[in-house]
Amino acid sequence: MTNPWKKDFPILHQQVNGHPLVYLDSGATSQKPYSVIEAMTQYYEGYNSNVHRGVHTLGTKATDGFEGAREKVRKFIHAKSVQEIIFTRGTTTAINLVASSYARANLKPGDEIITTVAEHHSNFIPWQQAAKATGATFKFLPLEADGTLDIAKIAEMITPQTKIVAIHHLSNVMGTVQPIKELAQMVHAVGGVISVDGAQAAPHMRVDVQDLDVDFYQFSGHKMMGPTGIGVLYGKKSLLEQMEPIEFGGEMIDLVDLHDSTWKELPWKFEGGTPIIAGAIGLGAAIDYLESVGMDIMEAHDRKLATYAAEQMSQIEGLTIYGPKSERTSLVTFNLDDVHPHDVATVLDAEGIAVRAGHHCCQPLMRWLKATATARASFYLYNDESDIDALVKGLKKTKEYFGHVFR
Ligand SMILES: *Cc1c(COP(=O)(O)O)cnc(C)c1O
Repeated sequence: MTNPWKKDFPILHQQVNGHPLVYLDSGATSQKPYSVIEAMTQYYEGYNSNVHRGVHTLGTKATDGFEGAREKVRKFIHAKSVQEIIFTRGTTTAINLVASSYARANLKPGDEIITTVAEHHSNFIPWQQAAKATGATFKFLPLEADGTLDIAKIAEMITPQTKIVAIHHLSNVMGTVQPIKELAQMVHAVGGVISVDGAQAAPHMRVDVQDLDVDFYQFSGHKMMGPTGIGVLYGKKSLLEQMEPIEFGGEMIDLVDLHDSTWKELPWKFEGGTPIIAGAIGLGAAIDYLESVGMDIMEAHDRKLATYAAEQMSQIEGLTIYGPKSERTSLVTFNLDDVHPHDVATVLDAEGIAVRAGHHCCQPLMRWLKATATARASFYLYNDESDIDALVKGLKKTKEYFGHVFR
C-alpha cells in the first residue's frame, strides 16, 4: 500500500546517493507540503507588505494573512483567545521569553524550578540560567529507566517551594509522552506554574492547552510541516499580562515619550520589530494541512510506525533501543554495539537513508543513559513501513560492514 500523503511533499521524490531518499529525520525538521511552499510564495509574489501599519491594500492583505494565521494556531491548540498566542522564532525563543521575563521577575532564593534530565538543551539552559540569576534551586524529577515519570514517586517533590515546573511533552530522544495534565494539577495545587516544551508533541498529537491546563506551551513551525523561523509561545492571558517584554522596539509600543514608554496590548507587546510574516502565513498553511489529515489520524499513524520500527529493529542482534517498550510515538533512538552512531548514519546515508546521530541537544540525558551519542530514526505522516524496512536492511548492512572491518 502506498502512502497517500507522500505525493504532497516534493522533496521526497528524489534520489540520494543513487537510492530513493528515505527521510527519517523529521524530529530535527519536517518536510513541507506543496501547500505550505505555495502559501509563502503567494505572499511574496502577490501581497508582500509590512503588517499592522499600512493602510494600503497590500498592507491590509498581509495583516489579514498574518493575524489569520494566529487564529489558526489558537484553534489548533484550543486556546481561549488569540491574545494568548505569541509568535516567536521557534520553541527555543519561546522558552527563553518565559525564562527571561516570567522566571526572573518571580523567583527568589529558596524557590524551586523543577525539570528533568531528559530535556532538550532549549528547555534546560534557559531555566538553569534563570535559577543561577535569581538564586532559585534547580531540581530534577527522577525518571524511570525508560524515560517515563512515576507520578506517585514525584508527588513529594512538588511543594509550595515549587514555582515553575518545566518539562517536555514528547521526548525527542526517548519518544515518551509525559503525563502533563496530572503534572499541571499537582503544580497548581501548590501554587506553581507549568511550562511545557511541545516541540515534538505539537506535530504528532492533538494538543488542547485548556484541557491540559498548562500555563505556558511552546512549539516550532518547522517540525510540523511549516517553515523555519516561526514558532509559538502560548501563555495564559493572566500570566502574560503580568509579564514585561524582553524585546523593545517597533511594533510593540503604544506611546513613546522621552523618558518612558508604554506597550501595546497582548499579543503584540511581545512581538518587537517586524514580525515573521511569511513564516506565520506558512505555519497557517501547515496547520490547514495537518487539520485536513486530522491529528487523530496523524497520532495513530506515527504511533504505528514507531511501534513497528521498534519491533523490527529489536530483532537485530546487538542493537539497543532507548525509551519505553510500548507507548512510544514518532521515533526510535538506538545504538549498534561497537559502531559509533556517526558511522551508522554515514553508512545509512550511502543507502539514501537520512537518520540523525549525536547527542540530540540532550547532553544531560546522554550522560544519564551512559551513552556518548545515539542514532535516531524519526517518522512522520509521509513515512510508511517500506521506509522502516529499508532502515532495517541498512542497519543489517552496517553491522556486516563493521563486523567485517573489525574482524
Ligand atoms: C527541536 C526541539 C526544541 C528546539 O526547537 P527549535 O525549533 O530549535 O527552537 C526544543 N525541544 C525539543 C523537544 C525539540 O525537539
